[in-house]
Amino acid sequence: MDKIVSLCKRRGFIFQGSEIYGGLANTWDYGPYGVELKNNLKKAWWKTNVQERNDILGMDCAILMHPKVWEASGHVHNFFDMKSDCMNCKKRFKSADLKDDAKCPECGGQLTGARPFNLMFKTYQGPVEESGNEIYLRPETAQGMFVNFANIQDARHPKLPFGMAQIGKSFRNEITPGNFTFRTREFEQMEIEYFVNPKDAERALGEWIDSRFNWYLGLGIKPENLRKRQHGKDELAHYAHACMDVEYNFPFGWAELEGVANRADFDLKQHAQYSSKELQYFDDTTKEKFYPYIIEPSGGVDRAVLAFLIDAYHEEKVKEETRVVLKFNKELCPVKAAVLPLLRNRPEIVELAKNISADLKKSFTAVYDDTGSIGKLYRRQDEVGTLYCVTVDVQTLEDKQVTVRSRDTMLQERISIDQLKQYLINKLS
Ligand code: ATP
Repeated sequence: MDKIVSLCKRRGFIFQGSEIYGGLANTWDYGPYGVELKNNLKKAWWKTNVQERNDILGMDCAILMHPKVWEASGHVHNFFDMKSDCMNCKKRFKSADLKDDAKCPECGGQLTGARPFNLMFKTYQGPVEESGNEIYLRPETAQGMFVNFANIQDARHPKLPFGMAQIGKSFRNEITPGNFTFRTREFEQMEIEYFVNPKDAERALGEWIDSRFNWYLGLGIKPENLRKRQHGKDELAHYAHACMDVEYNFPFGWAELEGVANRADFDLKQHAQYSSKELQYFDDTTKEKFYPYIIEPSGGVDRAVLAFLIDAYHEEKVKEETRVVLKFNKELCPVKAAVLPLLRNRPEIVELAKNISADLKKSFTAVYDDTGSIGKLYRRQDEVGTLYCVTVDVQTLEDKQVTVRSRDTMLQERISIDQLKQYLINKLS
């Protein structure tokens, strides 16, 4: 994990938040390569789950929602973790993590008994900070979709089964954030709410578990690092009938990447009751009216990015030296090609390399780099997972060919400049 954290900072994937002020604990800023990786991951999710399907509609809902939403959803009354405080060092612990619930694991001081702690962030809307203006930052993106169920019915008339999907920020005032970006208080989620006839819920749950599991494998996670884990009855969230996690083998152990839950008809019923609006589904063939069940695959963007970073990390021995390389698959990889001039003191070579990179940039993510010797530039590109390095040398000026080096095989090929872009596009598709 230390190697990943240090590579992320060194190469510009992820930085500590507010670092020049000593950092704000457990906040992280995505740098130039991190944001490309994260965007590619979100794009891949959107493509599979929205664009390639006929039955899922995309959404982008507000983070701030009517306070009644969180009463109806159960978050005001049920979204708690139990915490214990040390009476000596004042540190706060999640009670479930404690081996001894009487003694502080840090200083040995006496702990208070376990007390409930609501995980929602509270703030005020408008200029007056009074209790009537209290509002929450959403702790999940799901509710935005439930409260739009009737709007979607009216606007698009979808037939069951159908879903809504959304990617966006959520906030939880976690008691013990940590493990780099694994658990933070501000994070991004990718959630699908899939509405089904209750009799089809079990089958849909199984299909979604497989579909989500295979999505991670399809993007390159090694099968031995991915597993499914069924929730025990005592672990289920207040709304869930059943839940299966997709877990990744992180350096700190197996942990949840995504949960796929059967939320039953809890949410629509609650919102119908609290809003006094009709949120049932009318089946015009059977003339039945009922609350659909909801199957929810809910994943974390930041956790997935972290898993893909860890899984891609390789150290290889090359001629007595260690080569660090991030072997992202081609869809996720932040930069597809880097154009490097072999001699940076030759203006014709530099200009040609810049022109080639400008042309490639029109079709995919490419960079130009002339800030080191070729050996150093290759090492740097390997460390960020760049798929192809294109080198412009003296010979290029004569034969109009460049050297293309593959990240994975390290084999080099001479390709004519005219055919370079098409050659790379073929490799990337
Ligand atoms: P955990 O048990 O790890 O707290 P959870 O079961 O509460 O997670 P869900 O409510 O199912 O999580 O949220 C769905 C997904 O959102 C999780 O699988 C995870 O990927 C992501 N997620 C939840 N909480 C956080 C967090 N604090 N930091 C980063 N990602 C999170």
